Amino acid sequence: MAERAAIAVRRHRDHDAAAFAARHRDWPEWARRAAAARALAITLGVEAEDVTVTDDPDRRYADGRYPGMTLTVTEPVTERAWRFIPDLTLAPGTGWLLLDQCPGCGEAVPMAAITALADLGEYLAPDPEVDTTFDTAFDHVPGDHFGDPAHRPGCTHAALT
Ligand SMILES: [Zn+2]
Repeated sequence: MAERAAIAVRRHRDHDAAAFAARHRDWPEWARRAAAARALAITLGVEAEDVTVTDDPDRRYADGRYPGMTLTVTEPVTERAWRFIPDLTLAPGTGWLLLDQCPGCGEAVPMAAITALADLGEYLAPDPEVDTTFDTAFDHVPGDHFGDPAHRPGCTHAALT
């Protein structure tokens, strides 16, 4: 366990040393983020230490007073990073939105609602039997996809539908 703890603290220091060092200043937020990391890790079948939670640089809540959280899952072998934000339409710890390239502007925006590992599998390899004609091509994206603040100005996906 000591070895895993050393790896976990190194990841936090590498990712955002200042925020990690200051975690005692807002212990409830640190605890909320740790709980969110555990819940996402369980959902995806990864270790909680593979999930890093940081301030969301693009999304703020409560009239902009609080930053959202970004959960980054880093696969230990490949180092591939996956980024998620909480799905605020669901109870805490029960759903996330996968951030991936917007087909309109290329920015990282909500592209798939994830409540189980199968949701990620469906996003990565959509069922070819499902209708993907133009009218329905974006029906599967979460409601927060449209109007997300990370879209570039002028992106056709930036408008709320
Ligand atoms: Zn866009």
